[in-house]
Amino acid sequence: KQPVPSDIDVSRAQHPKLINKVAEEVGIAPYELEPYGAYKGKVDLKLLDRLQHRRNGRYVLVAGITPTPLGEGKSTTTVGLAQALAGRLNRICFANVRQPSQGPTFGIKGGAAGGGYSQVIPMDEFNLHLTGDIHAITAANNLLAAAIETRMFHESTQKDGPLYRRLVPEKKGIRQFAPVMLKRLHKLGIDKTDPNSLSEDEIRRFARLDIDPATLTWRRVLDVNDRHLRGITVGQAATEKGHARETGFDISVASECMAVLALATSLADLRERLGRMVVASSRAGDPVTCDDIGAGGALTALMKDAIKPNLMQTLEGTPVFVHAGPFANISIGASSVLADKLALKLAGTEPDEEVEEHTGFVVTEAGFDFTMGGERFFNIKCRASGLVPDTVVIVATVRALKVHGGGPEISPGAQLPEVYRTENVEILKKGCVNLKKHIENARSFGVPVVVAINKFATDTEAEIQVVREAALAAGAEDAIPANHWAEGGAGAINLAKGVIKSTSLPKPNFKLLYGLEDSIQERIEIIGKRMYGASAVEFSELAQKKVDTYQKQGFGNLPICIAKTQYSLSHDPALKGAPEGFVVPIRDVRMAAGAGYLYALAADIQTIPGLPTAPGYLNVDVDPETGEVQGMF
Ligand code: ADP
Repeated sequence: KQPVPSDIDVSRAQHPKLINKVAEEVGIAPYELEPYGAYKGKVDLKLLDRLQHRRNGRYVLVAGITPTPLGEGKSTTTVGLAQALAGRLNRICFANVRQPSQGPTFGIKGGAAGGGYSQVIPMDEFNLHLTGDIHAITAANNLLAAAIETRMFHESTQKDGPLYRRLVPEKKGIRQFAPVMLKRLHKLGIDKTDPNSLSEDEIRRFARLDIDPATLTWRRVLDVNDRHLRGITVGQAATEKGHARETGFDISVASECMAVLALATSLADLRERLGRMVVASSRAGDPVTCDDIGAGGALTALMKDAIKPNLMQTLEGTPVFVHAGPFANISIGASSVLADKLALKLAGTEPDEEVEEHTGFVVTEAGFDFTMGGERFFNIKCRASGLVPDTVVIVATVRALKVHGGGPEISPGAQLPEVYRTENVEILKKGCVNLKKHIENARSFGVPVVVAINKFATDTEAEIQVVREAALAAGAEDAIPANHWAEGGAGAINLAKGVIKSTSLPKPNFKLLYGLEDSIQERIEIIGKRMYGASAVEFSELAQKKVDTYQKQGFGNLPICIAKTQYSLSHDPALKGAPEGFVVPIRDVRMAAGAGYLYALAADIQTIPGLPTAPGYLNVDVDPETGEVQGMF
């Protein structure tokens, strides 16, 4: 058997279809596609209106067991399963995936297009600029950073606020309010539209935000693993007249603008969410929003094309939406609501069509494991979209389960210890507790679960059987070995058949994990205890104080995203398998009011990664003859 070539070589060897052809095959009209070059295109959101009458296709969520340094192959399985459903079983099927950040692409992890014969192509275009969405987010985020900084500067040098002098009637500086200014007036309870009719007092209230610098949460972003920007001082030039301030950078995908892109349901909703983002508190303790700064409209203008999902294809020509990629460490690790909505209509059926035979599929992914990614997918993303997955696929590998069974540590670059290369049923059996917990967690939402056993060349029949039995005993509908990495869609036909069967099951008991009526603390406890297996959750003084502030400011009813290590079901990366009896420490609680969730920090989370000593970029080059990118992985 031929060995599988490197990901970039596999990608390069396949000539993609023109993107117009991919679009045509799934019923996207020529006027709904905006090609960006030959192999990528954006799809107009108006398509949702045209296909509004259709029933949705089936919605499949791919998540995994607790990650290990060995990789479980969630993206590879998402793509492989879609290739099997579309290419082999003749269903319309979309793989909906995240756009990767350039940070990991040039850092440790490499690209995120899947792997082997289950990839999104061209993988270099996928992993690099795509159609510029991340650049748009960077621009939007940093415009707001500059706007906040400048506003604070002007307010401190002009006693009455920078807009004041332009609003006093004699000067007649502003003849008309911009819509965003009307929004702020409305918020202040001043329903006047003529600038000349404002009283002196109204002008003063309108003109000053009085931001408390100590409460500023908005940071700058860029899409590079530049760790030396984690903490910086701005405003050191003489022109800033002593207004130096400490702040820092995050990676672009950690920007709230990215989370907003992922969760927005329309252009109007994007506008609202961007405007609602809270950047600080005033000295009086009121939240200050992006719209208070006056930048909501401009940010929307910068992101108006980014909101359209990007169409690409897999190695076998299956359609793929690549759209949004919030940083899974502090946000939802899922692609966009809009890409899912579009794909579900395109894969859907006409009212007079037979559903069972004709319905298509949308396979999408949530990182990291089910318990982090899947839980957030349901409680945050599905709550925003109103969509309900028809099946959860949990990806497991024999090798990774052995890590959870107490297998030896893996050091990067070193040879893989023996246990992971040869049969070892004992350790594997122990590790299956991790899979069991994820299956139980997924089933608690009332949705059927199928386990995909992503096959590695070293797996034995006896080992596959162990995983299968453990999965069925834990309540999975099925547990199916799949070899799509080595064989493409053909290797995942059985998995695809299992998924078709599972998605046709009714879900009478579907329910989210928590409601939004009880307290923030209760919501965090429910996640910690029921999902992670904790005995208790402990709030630091700071976390408690922040919770009280959010409650007071009227943000008490948002869903929760817990930021913790991805390497354990608990908050402690050393605890493998399915630990119990631990106490989750919540150090801090922060807010993404525009995206619409609170995030609780159960660990010190780096929001801009660093580069390793042997970074991915060392291998990347461009062939001077052909202009092709080499060495990406
Ligand atoms: P995840 O989405 O879980 O992070 P990926 O799908 O990105 O994982 O896969 C991680 C890496 O493992 C990729 O380089 C991919 O090519 C490789 N990989 C995935 N499945 C297999 C497999 N069955 N055999 C060998 N390599 C695999």
